[in-house]
Amino acid sequence: MVEVRDEELFDKVYAAILARSDRYDGIYYSAIKTTGIYCRPSCRSRTPKPENVIVYASTHEAERSGYRACKRCQPNKQELINPDADIAERVTRYIYAHYREPLTLERIASTLSIAHITCRGCTGE
Ligand SMILES: [Zn+2]
Repeated sequence: MVEVRDEELFDKVYAAILARSDRYDGIYYSAIKTTGIYCRPSCRSRTPKPENVIVYASTHEAERSGYRACKRCQPNKQELINPDADIAERVTRYIYAHYREPLTLERIASTLSIAHITCRGCTGE
C-alpha cells in the first residue's frame, strides 16, 4: 500500500496543489475522494478540500484504489511532464535512500525501471 499518510508530505503535496506547482508532478498524485479522479498536483481543474484528498506515490496505486485519471492533466501520461526532471527526482530520491550501498548507474536504472541513464555534464569526480 503506497497511499501516502505522512502528514508532512501530505502538507507539501497539498501546498503544491494550492499553488498549482508542478514540483511533485510525476512523483505524487492527488486523488479526490468526492470525484473518484486522480490528478497531478499541478492540475488546474479543481482545488479539492484537504479532507477529500488522498496522496498516492504512483498512478498504479491510485487506479488500484478505484480512481480514474483526470482527463485534463492526464496524470497517467508520464511523457507530458518534463521526463528529465521526473527521472532526476526519482534518481535523487533513490540515491538518498541507498547512499550507503555501492551504486552504479545500471543498478539505479534497473531499480527505477529506466531504460538507461546517461550522465550529462558528469565531471568524472
Ligand atoms: Zn487533473
